[in-house]
Amino acid sequence: MADMTEIAEGVALVLAPNPSLMTGPGTNTYVVGAEPEGCIVIDPGPDDIHHIETVARIAGERGGVRAILITHGHPDHMMGAARLRSCTGAPVAAWSREGVSVADQELVDGARVSTGAGAVRAVYTPGHRFDHLCFWLEPSGALFAGDLLAGAGTVVVAPPEGDMQAYLASLQRLLAEPPSLILPAHGPAIADPVGKLQEYLDHRLMREQQVLTGLARGLATVAELVAAIYADVDARLHPVAAGSVLAHLQKLEREGRVIAMPDGRWRLMA
Ligand SMILES: [Zn+2]
Repeated sequence: MADMTEIAEGVALVLAPNPSLMTGPGTNTYVVGAEPEGCIVIDPGPDDIHHIETVARIAGERGGVRAILITHGHPDHMMGAARLRSCTGAPVAAWSREGVSVADQELVDGARVSTGAGAVRAVYTPGHRFDHLCFWLEPSGALFAGDLLAGAGTVVVAPPEGDMQAYLASLQRLLAEPPSLILPAHGPAIADPVGKLQEYLDHRLMREQQVLTGLARGLATVAELVAAIYADVDARLHPVAAGSVLAHLQKLEREGRVIAMPDGRWRLMA
């Protein structure tokens, strides 16, 4: 079937038709499970009728949908949730109703949901967004990573929804108990989870060092720091980079390493 790929044992991938600069090839919707217990759907994706009907049909062939799980409340992950719920009758579950207003159930860290492919466990991993969950497929140790990591494109960490300190802590948490395989919401599967988690941490810490070096050189605004640090990056991504620089500055401020001035400028703590 052209619209579905069996990406791991008991896991079907259905690619949503929403490619863009930020989503890469589009959102990966995962259908996890098999008869007789049935499936869960992770991130139904955008509200595209054909995509949602395809997901419902594939899940129907595997014993039906037990629950619709949302990694976080960004539109490219959850806008199709209400339509999939009305097609299947399955409840929508997410970290919070504050993050995902259509959620019927809130999942705490460690909550388990059973499927025909074994239990899936929620792992609270804020940073990209305050309500971000990853889902651990317990039998194989594969991790549905949402937007914590990406197989394609870039992960945005920008205030007020994003928090760099929380993001780095979430990466560290997974590095301490690494999955066997990472199935991101955008792009291909990541077969070397430890290497990729470490690469993400190293990259963010390099950017943090560049922010500190820029401040030491007398750069004082987010725009000045972006122009210096992201000179070699596609200018279309500079607004995203500005969010990331602000996220680094807020983390450093909390750590007592930089000070925010009333005029919007920043400087190193003396
Ligand atoms: Zn997102």
